[in-house]
Amino acid sequence: MERADFVIIGAGIMGCSVAYHLAERRAGRIVVLERDEIARGATADAAGGIRLQFSTETNIRLSLLSFEYWEHFTERFGVDIGLHQYGYLFLLTRPEDVSAFRASLALQTSLGVPARWVEPQEIAELQPAVRTDDLLGGTFCPRDGWCDPYTATMGFATAARELGVEFREHCPVTGFRIVGDRLQAVLTPEGEIACGTAIICAGPYTGEVGKLAGLELPVVPYRRMSFVTEPFELVPKTVPMTIEFESSLYFHPEGEGFLFGMSNPNEPPGFHKTVDPEWMTRTVEALCRRAPVFEQARIRRGWAGFYEVTPDANPLIGRIEEIDGLAVAAGFSGHGFMHGPAVGRCMAELLLDGVATSVDIRAFSPARFRRGQLIQERNVI
Ligand SMILES: Cc1cc2nc3c(=O)[nH]c(=O)nc-3n(C[C@H](O)[C@H](O)[C@H](O)COP(=O)(O)OP(=O)(O)OC[C@H]3O[C@@H](n4cnc5c(N)ncnc54)[C@H](O)[C@@H]3O)c2cc1C
Repeated sequence: MERADFVIIGAGIMGCSVAYHLAERRAGRIVVLERDEIARGATADAAGGIRLQFSTETNIRLSLLSFEYWEHFTERFGVDIGLHQYGYLFLLTRPEDVSAFRASLALQTSLGVPARWVEPQEIAELQPAVRTDDLLGGTFCPRDGWCDPYTATMGFATAARELGVEFREHCPVTGFRIVGDRLQAVLTPEGEIACGTAIICAGPYTGEVGKLAGLELPVVPYRRMSFVTEPFELVPKTVPMTIEFESSLYFHPEGEGFLFGMSNPNEPPGFHKTVDPEWMTRTVEALCRRAPVFEQARIRRGWAGFYEVTPDANPLIGRIEEIDGLAVAAGFSGHGFMHGPAVGRCMAELLLDGVATSVDIRAFSPARFRRGQLIQERNVI
């Protein structure tokens, strides 16, 4: 029977980063099983935003470590990920958000994040397109930005391959062979692979993969839509990623045009990967309310993807206590692309050394849901 030291389930940013970091540590035979193709899942649908502005220490530290990769990606991986660091600008309209963001800002600055409070007048300078009359203020971090998720993920995959990792596309995991509480093998239509450890990196499908092992992993898929405009010259291409926090509307320059989106709070969970024209209209209306100049923009296209949402909007990273030999890195609740590099490194440390030392990820242990120790992330878009 085929045997691997590590089998990784899913080749999105997480699976590729975990594979790369394990291989970098010479962790033995590593096989990545992907039911579709590399970087075609949620990672392909991401807006590519990367930010340091989180409300929990673990997320800020995961971002800080990931930024070391994003800012030096070309030197390390030899590919240009189109990094634009024009910042993230959060716009606040509710008093309760002002106090929460001021508290997060204090935490961020204590950890070395160069974020700051901005009054409406400075917001107008940073982002001339937005109406500021109803704003109570906002926060801005010039180091934040965005890059290309597909190229970044392929960068990790290519580097992992060069280190000996085997990627198998169109090869879904269909089950697990578990004896007692010990994982023996991962099952695929092409046969079984006996393994020391399997790591579930299945993004929005993590709940489904968990069920194959008899587990209830609390990762729920929610549709999210993004849209891009035709080339649009009326707003400079150097404006920050702009987020109206109350509505979750966001937009940033993308190529010659702009990319924008907004979360529907009434979206039911599920795997419906079609654009809802009604929600598209609502999103365009919200964009034009906040930045009226976009009334003159034309929409080129839209697409839908899935957030992988957990009860506290934070991921499950670590070994699964119930099954020896099974681990998970999933449930990033819409901000997983940006944490890919750090999570891969931490998972490799956890699996090979018994503890992650680059970032203390114990707060995101999968067992916290069973223990009722949730860690709510507030800065979710
Ligand atoms: C519209 C949208 C915008 C977003 N914007 C951002 C953003 O700006 N910044 C950010 O950081 N994040 C963003 N995200 C979130 C981000 O895309 C995800 O958090 C991240 O890509 C998750 O990566 P992943 O590797 O865990 O999942 P995925 O990329 O989904 O990878 C999981 C892989 O597992 C495979 N798989 C599933 N089941 C099986 C199986 N049984 N066997 C084998 N393989 C399997 C899938 O085919 C898939 O390729 C956005 C998401 C969406 C939908």
